[in-house]
Amino acid sequence: MSAQIVIDTLDFVSNTRTLHGKIILKDCMRLKDYLYDNQGKLKYKISGVLDKNDKSILQVIINGEIPLHCQRCLGKLTYLLNIQREILLAENENELSHLDEIETIDGILADSNLDILELIEDEIILSLPISPRHRENECSAQEFTDSNPIGEKNPFVALAKLKKHTKII
Ligand SMILES: [Zn+2]
Repeated sequence: MSAQIVIDTLDFVSNTRTLHGKIILKDCMRLKDYLYDNQGKLKYKISGVLDKNDKSILQVIINGEIPLHCQRCLGKLTYLLNIQREILLAENENELSHLDEIETIDGILADSNLDILELIEDEIILSLPISPRHRENECSAQEFTDSNPIGEKNPFVALAKLKKHTKII
């Protein structure tokens, strides 16, 4: 297990701190359902900055390969993650609900005890493709149609709900 890392978000920004390191997929318990196996590591970098309106922002960069299930053949699909996101830190629920109305801005509540691994897992889950598939010439499935019933059991359909949920807490 990696040691838990927590930050005080507003303090992190006012001191323009940067954190970088590696996370081990084995430690990502909430990602488990999406993964073909839990072998591998991802690199991350989190920086605290002020935007041009003096709003506190966490810049999150996550890179690496993540093993997913191909929705056509159910085999292993190595997906390249290349996440670069800016998350605005809302100082209260009111501000956060305003942010939620603006689709281009991601926001979370400022937290004096933010668990970095949880934040990274959220960002990864939100960035995963809804229906990952091999390219046709790389897939072992002989044939498929877009109305493949596998899609209906796809765990990724719960993502939209999850996104709302993680914003509230
Ligand atoms: Zn496939």
